[in-house]
Parts: sequence; C-alpha cells; structure tokens
Amino acid sequence: MEQHVPRTARIALNRPIRRLFDYLVPDHITLQKGQRVTVPFGPQSATGLVADTDAPPPEGIILKPVKAACEHWPALPAETFQLLSWAADYYQHPLGECLFTALPPALRRGRAALERKEAYWQACGDPAVLAGNATRQRELLAWLQRQPGSVSGKQIVRAGFTQSQVKSLLGKELICEAPPPDPAGVPEDVRNRIPELSPAQRDAADQLPLPADGFAASLLFGITGSGKTELYLYYLKHYLGDGDQALVLVPEINLTPQTVARFQHYFGSRIAVWHSALNDGERLSTWLKIRNGEPVILIGTRSAVLLPFTGLKTIIVDEEHDSSYKQGEGFRYSGRDTAVYRAHLNNCPVILGSATPSMESYHNALSGKYSLIRLEERAGNAKPPHIKLLDIRSRPLEGGLSRPALQAIEKCLQAGQQALVFVNRRGFAPVMMCFDCGHMVECPRCDTRLTYHRRDRAMRCHHCDFQTAATEHCPKCNSDAFKPVGQGTERTEDILTTQFPDTPVVRVDRDSTQRKGSIQGILEKVNSGRPCILVGTQMLAKGHDFPNVTLVVAVNADGGLFSVDFRAPEQLIQTLLQVSGRAGRGEKPGEVLIQTCHSDHPLLRSLAEGSYLPVADQMLAERKAGQLPPFRAMAIFRAEAETMEKSLKLLDTIKPQALSNKIEIWGPLPALIARRADRHRAQLVLLCNNRRHLNRQLARVCETLDQSKQPTGLKWMIDVDPQET
Ligand code: ADP
Ligand code: ZN
Ligand code: ZN
Repeated sequence: MEQHVPRTARIALNRPIRRLFDYLVPDHITLQKGQRVTVPFGPQSATGLVADTDAPPPEGIILKPVKAACEHWPALPAETFQLLSWAADYYQHPLGECLFTALPPALRRGRAALERKEAYWQACGDPAVLAGNATRQRELLAWLQRQPGSVSGKQIVRAGFTQSQVKSLLGKELICEAPPPDPAGVPEDVRNRIPELSPAQRDAADQLPLPADGFAASLLFGITGSGKTELYLYYLKHYLGDGDQALVLVPEINLTPQTVARFQHYFGSRIAVWHSALNDGERLSTWLKIRNGEPVILIGTRSAVLLPFTGLKTIIVDEEHDSSYKQGEGFRYSGRDTAVYRAHLNNCPVILGSATPSMESYHNALSGKYSLIRLEERAGNAKPPHIKLLDIRSRPLEGGLSRPALQAIEKCLQAGQQALVFVNRRGFAPVMMCFDCGHMVECPRCDTRLTYHRRDRAMRCHHCDFQTAATEHCPKCNSDAFKPVGQGTERTEDILTTQFPDTPVVRVDRDSTQRKGSIQGILEKVNSGRPCILVGTQMLAKGHDFPNVTLVVAVNADGGLFSVDFRAPEQLIQTLLQVSGRAGRGEKPGEVLIQTCHSDHPLLRSLAEGSYLPVADQMLAERKAGQLPPFRAMAIFRAEAETMEKSLKLLDTIKPQALSNKIEIWGPLPALIARRADRHRAQLVLLCNNRRHLNRQLARVCETLDQSKQPTGLKWMIDVDPQET
C-alpha cells in the first residue's frame, strides 16, 4: 500500500528569530513561495509568509497544520522574494522580519488584501426637481455643482453635509459616482511640457542607460541646480514604456514637496508616493497598485525599494549620498545599495544621482563598475555660486555671526534678495554652563549634554526623549552666571531678528516643521520672493529650489573636520556643498560664506575652489591610506546592556570567533556615546577586503550567538556597511 506522504511548508514569521517554522499543509490548500498564510503560533495564530514548499519535513516532530492561505497569489513575487532573501543574508538580519518589511502594515497584521475604495461623487441632476423641504439636499447638490471636479465622501462631510444626504440624492439619481480627481490638479495640456534640454543635459541624457538595454549602473554627477530632476523627467517620459513601472528613491519626501509636485505635473495620476507619513489605507492602496503591475512611477523613501514591483523597468536614486538611505535600527539595510542589487536582479538600469556623490559610489565609478555621467553646468541662466572661507579665529562674533557675514546679509537684503544661514544644531544652544562652578547640564540617561530650547523653556536631550524645565540658576551652585554656550538655530534666529528688525526671519528645523504641511507653508512664503532670511539646519540642504536666495552663510563648519568618525569630513563637505547649492539658482549669481577656524584645512581650501570631485579625490585618498571603506568592507557588532562590563564581555567572547587571518578587528570599545537612554553601548569593528569571507564569518558568529543564551538585558546586533561608527 502506498504511504501518504504529508506535505509540509516552511513559514517565515515577523519575529526577530533567525529561523523558519515548519507546518503541515492540509490537502485542500496549495501553497507557493511568497504566499501569505495564517498559522497557529503558541496559543494564538500569526500571519506568515511561505518561504519554502520543498523542504523535507523534520523527523520526529508533530507539526500543526497551516490554518488558511490569505490569498491564492503570492504577496511577494519571485523577484521580490529573492531580493529580500539576498538582503537578509547580506545584512545578517532574520529573514522573517526582512520579508515582512515588504508588506504594508495592514497585511502584516493579517488583514485582507482588499482596498476599501473611497467613492467620489459629482452632481448629475437638476436641484429644481427636489421637493420644497429637502433644503440641505438642495444645498449639497448646488455645492457639488460648484466644485471643479469629483468630491470624496469625506470632503462632503467636512463641508458640513451628511452621508445620509448623499444616499438620498443617490436614490433620486441626482448624483453619481465619478472617477477621483487628478491628484496634481493639472489640466492635460499643461502636462507633457518639458523644457528643452540644455546641450549639457542632452549630452548627459545620451549617456543614460536605457531600460531596453538591461542592467547598467550609472552615477550621474550633476552639480546643484544642473537640472538633474529635469533630466529624470525627460528620461522617464521618453524611455519608460506606457505599461512599465519605475521607482524614484528620494531621501525624505516630506522635505521636498516640490519634487513630487514636479513629477505629478508631468505624469499626473501615474505618480504614486511611498513614505512614513502615509496612513495604513493609503499604503495598502499603493502597495496593491505596485503588486498588480499597474504602470506606476513610484516616488518613495528607502523602504520603497523593497516593494513587490512586477513590471519594474528602471530605478533612479536621487541624492544617493544621503545617509537616510541607511536604516539605523532593526533591519539595517541601505536603500541605495539594495536598489543597485535589485536593478541587477531585475536586469534594468539604475541611475544614482548626486551633486556630492558618496565615496562608495564615486569609487565604483572610478573603478569602472558604474559609468560616470557628468553634468557640470547649471541649467537655465544660473551660475555656480562663489564660495569664500571666512576665518573667524580672531574675529568678534555676535550670536556666532562675524561682522563680514552680517554685512553681507545686509547688502543682500538691500538688493531685495534673500539670505540663508546654516546652523548645524537646532535649539537655542548646545550647552548650558555655569560660569562660577563650571557645571554643564548633562542628560541623566546619556553621556551627552542637554540642548537649551528657549522657545519652550526646556532643556532636551537629542539622543533620548529626556527633557526638563530650563532654570535661570545653576542647578549645582545656584549662581546666576548660568548661560547658554554655542549656537543653535533659535539663537541665530534671535540675533538676526534684532539685527534686521524689518526683515522676516524664517526658521527651518525639526522643531519648526513638526506640523504636517508646515514645510510647504514655509517654502511658499520664501518663494513669494520678498527679502527674508532663512535660518536652519541641514534640512535646508535637501533639494530645495529657492530662486531668490543669493547668499548662503555657514555659521560654523568645523565640527566634522576633526571627528573620530571617519565619515564625518565627507558628511560635512557634502552638507556644505548642498547648502551652498541653494544660492544663486535663479537669474542672480550666488555667494557663499563659510565661517571657520581652519581656513587652511586642505579639504576646505579645495572646497572653496568650488568643485566637488577634487575634494572627493582627496577624501578617497585618505580612505585608501587608512584602508577604510570603500577600500575594505566593514561590519560592526554592537552590544548594549545596563552595564558597560556586560556589553564589553559579550564582544570579547565574539572576537576570537570572528577573527581570521583576513579580518582586522578593532575593539571591543565603548561607542562614541557610550551611554544612551541608560544603556551602555560597546562595539567591535570588523574590516576585511573580501566581502564574501566577511559575510561568511559574520554568519558563523550569528549562528553561535543564536544558540547560546545571553544574560537578560543584553542585546546584540550587527551592522553591515555601517553609516555610524
Ligand atoms: P537639480 O535637481 O540638479 O538640483 P533641477 O532639475 O531642480 O536641478 O533644476 C534646477 C532649476 O533649473 C529648476 O528651477 C529647473 O526648472 C530649471 N531647469 C532645469 N533644466 C532646465 C532647462 N533645460 N531649461 C530651463 N530651465 C531648466
Ligand atoms: Zn554653578
Ligand atoms: Zn539622553
């Protein structure tokens, strides 16, 4: 008699465990890889994803059966599944958690993959037929007639009407369902108009890899204002097929509403967005469009690269140098690097664009892995700004600003133009200090000082959520010689308001833009064109187009020059150039003043020459001399516990396991901020010139760590290609 072999499947769960779970598959269910299922897990049930259907069933264990398949189609198609498996392996993160990042929150929780579509309405009958007592219905109908396009049920309620009035009108066939209005609200004939490319742009366009030609990676080095965005639009318009999908990754979408608006202007409802501010319904709806292969051009942040595209034909990564592409916790992947791998997997081109390319991408371009496309002229009539170093070693400062800087701002305003002042810290001052006893107020939970926020009369830690009321006297000796030290955006804002009482001063930082949509308001105000002074953090550096800003002042450039973090100079130079790039983007030429105590520093001197690549060459040479990334692969084991001893001890046990003759190890050492939110953090840095070897070694250590039980309260994690060291 033939024996009935039970079918089993390996299921990935959304748990931080480096293993899969075996289940029986009942006869009435057929499963394929990537499909969503409900399985019993402990006393409850959980949503899982099918990871394997061919694995032999484990022996001697009684398995529970899968309860149900959520859909008959795989939520994660083969290519997406493969991408995520690669990422799980490359970043040494549990497969289950990696796979679940590609699902919208509703589907992670096991909800049905069905969109609750919102209905849109328009008037289609004459209000005159309504009987005399139906006043509100008549008013609703008249209101609908006045609207430029169809209106959602929500908007109707917001305008003061009710759902039951909608129903009554529907029953009388006076209103009907209509397609939603175009999100961009742009009439058809305004679209499609792309300005004629300049000769330099045309030349760059000719070098871009085409979707039809398969995988190719290009680094588009285009100076700020050279028209990279315009080039992306041209490229997509001309080379993306009508039924194709495209992905445009951007660093932080809420900061650059202008970019999204420009894309919508050309592509209308074909544009979809993906970022953290979307609600669950919006996410599910966009996710379904992508999974169903609708010809979407998706503009999204980091995690958009993991979505289940089925017709992806090209990927663009804008501002590829931006550190927000790397996730800092949990599944620590790089959106940019994952994009390159996905293009490879998908056999389509990937374009990495930046005015200040990362050392990694620039190195890849120099070594021939990527093609390098240069766009070194500003578009339209704009000229690159003139950069000047302002040595402030022996100059008196007012609120951090030197006389020449204040004079330059005055001259700029008198000419009817706008100035931008860049300060690298939000709040009023980074330290409160007692000039009698020398006490500096520290965070009780971290090894950092509290930042003074004068607007809220608070002292806050920027590394944990601690805050306390600001005091006027030293908390230690009660002296009133208790004063703020150093510059924050609030302080610079105050100084500028005093110095230029007739000019609006607009502050842009995380505190002033917390409300949804507030950045839009600020941008509109600035772009109305009247003289004003913008004060802000690197938020101002990100892709904005301020045509009337002609002067940029960087208050203090020196922080990153001598940091122990080897990436700090790169980040400093990139931020300075990006901020500088906000000057002179319109018809008028721009000027940049960088205040520094080290005007003879070779990187700053080179920066003042105005072009990035020579500075990049210098930085790359330093990396090479130190055999740092991108010349060697790096990974960090991090540990945190309630004592430093515990953290260091764990890393000490890892060290001999990780060691090989090809791997160099630094540490274990306390992290830069050793205590954060009362957790003591240590790290072990691994460097190796063979990425495969390093990866295998990491996997081995992870396996032993998983099998050994760690003391309670001790957490360890692994960071491959870390951004922070
Ligand atoms: P980037 O993305 O490189 O910073 P943008 O694409 O934002 O540059 O272009 C900078 C400015 O120049 C924008 O105001 C844009 O509308 C304008 N621009 C770009 N290309 C052209 C062109 N070919 N002709 C006229 N204006 C252009
Ligand atoms: Zn004191
Ligand atoms: Zn803190």
